[in-house]
Amino acid sequence: MKILQVSSEAVPFAKTGGLADVAGALPVALERLGEEVIAILPRYKTIDDSKFKITRVKENLSYSVIGQNIKVYFIENEKYFNRLGLYQDKTGDYPDNLERFSYFCKRTLELLKELKFSPDIVHCHDWQSALIPLYLETVYKRDSFYKKIKSIFTIHNIGYQGLFPKEEYPKLGLDWSLFNMETLEFYGKINLLKGGIVFSDIINTVSNAYSKEIQTKEFGFGMEGILNRRKTDVFGILNGLDYSIWNPETDKFIVKDYSAAELDGKAENKEELQKVCSLPVKKEVPLVGIVSRLAEQKGFDILADALELICKMDLQLVILGTGDLKYHVLLENAVKKYPKVISLHLKFDDQLAHKIYAGSDMFLMPSKYEPCGLGQLISFKYGTIPIVFKTGGLADTVNKDNGFVLEHYTKNDLIKSIQEATGAFKNKKKWLALINNAMQYNFSWEESAKKYIKLYDKAKSK
Ligand code: ADP
Repeated sequence: MKILQVSSEAVPFAKTGGLADVAGALPVALERLGEEVIAILPRYKTIDDSKFKITRVKENLSYSVIGQNIKVYFIENEKYFNRLGLYQDKTGDYPDNLERFSYFCKRTLELLKELKFSPDIVHCHDWQSALIPLYLETVYKRDSFYKKIKSIFTIHNIGYQGLFPKEEYPKLGLDWSLFNMETLEFYGKINLLKGGIVFSDIINTVSNAYSKEIQTKEFGFGMEGILNRRKTDVFGILNGLDYSIWNPETDKFIVKDYSAAELDGKAENKEELQKVCSLPVKKEVPLVGIVSRLAEQKGFDILADALELICKMDLQLVILGTGDLKYHVLLENAVKKYPKVISLHLKFDDQLAHKIYAGSDMFLMPSKYEPCGLGQLISFKYGTIPIVFKTGGLADTVNKDNGFVLEHYTKNDLIKSIQEATGAFKNKKKWLALINNAMQYNFSWEESAKKYIKLYDKAKSK
């Protein structure tokens, strides 16, 4: 099968979040399964020749190679992409994002013709490439080159929809008849994500539970109606984890490698983490790790309410993250009050993240909603027991055999779950059984890619 992956970011070239991990890893996994894949990305200023081997094709077009032979083409445009940020700068979103990404979508489709690459499947991700399914069904409909192409649209987080003022509509090059409630309009604004949902052949999200949740008022961010109407075309496929990066047996950032069979190294990592974090070095005190964006979505509202009580429990808390200023302030104040309990790191630090996954006994991730979640999957591999709220990808992966699950998104349930976990920690046999279970799970990209191939087949038969 010939597959085109279109996204606005992909590892290793440009990343702001989980989308980049998927867009970088899925093509490689598909290639390993024998599929023919190319990818297309915008050429941001940060993607430069000094970091990557980049070959020029012609003016405004270059490529690099990932996997064995996957060409990742970069669409260049001085005006739109030659800037440091992907979507925003310090002052907020770039005001011309609609122009930038509608250009990206159109140019992508034209490029296929220039490259003489006619894919069976165009796989689009999030609002930045959501116009592609729509353009295929409208502007390019009558062009025979595009006739057989089927589209898949993956929603990585429905909270981000690409909303723009109606006044910008002419820039899309579309007939005004498409600006209505059934297609691109959302309460008087242009909603690009909605266009992707309406016009793609198949829609999917990054976990089964989230694919159902987004069809409800509580989690749909206004898209529940339109998704419900297409519910037989909506699927969920859990993201994989890159075990070449996240593996305690080979991790170059941790003080001692370990495995399920050789668990002793984990205790050394805990000791190291306590030292690095200036916490009392105590084996018997449960150490709870958090690596997260500091945002309400990640559970920081209930965590803020519960923090005082949590700090009075017999535990230690290492927090690594950046995000909302109000949580920075709140946590800084808590550290002042409980310096022997909390160690706070308000930054993005990949190395420390690895140390936290390896050295903690538990990983706290009580997200309010979670499309897939990587933190809990990484924790499993490191024998670090997750404590999560029952939502989205967390509900699909964490259960009583490998972690602790809050039934309700409340401060009380959060405290109860932490108490349960610290109680279980004292029972060495029970705790070891949990660790052993957790470390057995395999969320490799190979499994996810096989499911994507089935979805592509489904789209092809449409
Ligand atoms: P998100 O919604 O932020 O994409 P995920 O759980 O899917 O949440 O993925 C977050 C990823 O980013 C994880 O690999 C996590 O370890 C990492 N991460 C988050 N915050 C930090 C940080 N401050 N420093 C290092 N890594 C971080």
